[in-house]
Amino acid sequence: MTSLTSRTAVDPGVSSSVRADIRSQTKEELEAQLAALKQPSFRADQILRWIYQRRATSWDAMSNLPKTLRDRLQTHFALRPIKLVRKQGSRDTTQKFLWSLADGSFIESVLIPANPALYGDVSDRHTLCVSTQVGCAYGCRFCASGLDGWKRNLLPDEIVDQILAVERWNDEQKTPDTETGQKPADRLISNLVIMGMGEPLANYDNLLKALRILNAPWGVGIGARKITISTSGLAPQIRKLADEPFQFRLAISLHGATDETRNKIMPVNRKYPLKELTAACEYYLAHKGKMITFEYILIAGVNDSPDQAKPLAHLAQRLNAKVNLIPYNRVEGLPWERPSDERQRAFLNALTKLKITATLRVEKGHDIDAACGQLRLKTERELAETAPSTKP
Ligand code: SAH
Ligand code: SF4
Repeated sequence: MTSLTSRTAVDPGVSSSVRADIRSQTKEELEAQLAALKQPSFRADQILRWIYQRRATSWDAMSNLPKTLRDRLQTHFALRPIKLVRKQGSRDTTQKFLWSLADGSFIESVLIPANPALYGDVSDRHTLCVSTQVGCAYGCRFCASGLDGWKRNLLPDEIVDQILAVERWNDEQKTPDTETGQKPADRLISNLVIMGMGEPLANYDNLLKALRILNAPWGVGIGARKITISTSGLAPQIRKLADEPFQFRLAISLHGATDETRNKIMPVNRKYPLKELTAACEYYLAHKGKMITFEYILIAGVNDSPDQAKPLAHLAQRLNAKVNLIPYNRVEGLPWERPSDERQRAFLNALTKLKITATLRVEKGHDIDAACGQLRLKTERELAETAPSTKP
């Protein structure tokens, strides 16, 4: 882990920004490039195994490739792993990772075990929440990710590497096999939620390429049904996603069931109001037959009155959606508060009475700034305070 008091600018290993990282390539693209280098086709499988099964982070580690090939690959492709800067683990074993990218930007991922490790049991199914952009341009009023605006889209490899990097971190905790001296390289992450920093559907092409790699049997092999994409409501991209040949799950960050409430807290609603958003959801439903989830953060005095449960139930019924209620996580510097437990339960009860499938999320990681963008914001602020002045 690097120190927080100094920020590395560009990774010294990165000589050129034009070389694509190898983890941004599909198998077909890699095979085509290897054919151009007059390499036998089995080399692609060997390389992919090193990258996705062994999670190699250097060409030198790929010991069954001839040195000459490794050198040639190095001139063709970058291999720039993201770096762990900071990690926070909460009592219920949710872990939050802050990574630095080759250009010094920070992003976050959150690892959530399916069964918290109670009584010493170790959970084997894990969900990873991944980021898709540095910052966010959508500026939802309650969210830390958009506070400093949007910086850039993540590249496919920067999305893919969040999964590999968490698994590398997990590998480091394992004890090596007594005979081979090697550590088992089994998969840790079985589910993905694209709910970290950024608006995934605003980085559509890079996201889809990353998901193709994460889904592929030659890649990470996570089933499309185990991948949930969350969006604040980009209606045209929801329709585009519906036309893709993948069965991803869709979550809509609704947070308000009327245009009046959504307009107050989510500027995106002015561009794609509820009429357009729900029509796009209906299109997704018709094409995929998948149940959609509405994410609904409960914010005190904004969207938590039981009479707002009615229009929400109406929308959920129309779209056959289930509702995931999330108590708001406070963000430093923002005025919003989470409602009392009683008020949260009253809202849940109002929905249940209206025959809606709804859950109230017991926040995992509330104590570790779990909502997206908060750890990055905190770190950026600490760095700004400790960084030496750039003025002469
Ligand atoms: N941009 C996408 C995905 C990232 S945000 C989207 O908006 O859906 C992931 C989820 O975290 C969204 O539902 C978002 O509304 C929620 N979120 C943001 N800030 C939060 C906070 N302070 N407390 C609880 N949830 C928050
Ligand atoms: Fe962006 Fe999602 Fe945060 Fe809104 S909630 S600012 S879309 S990351």
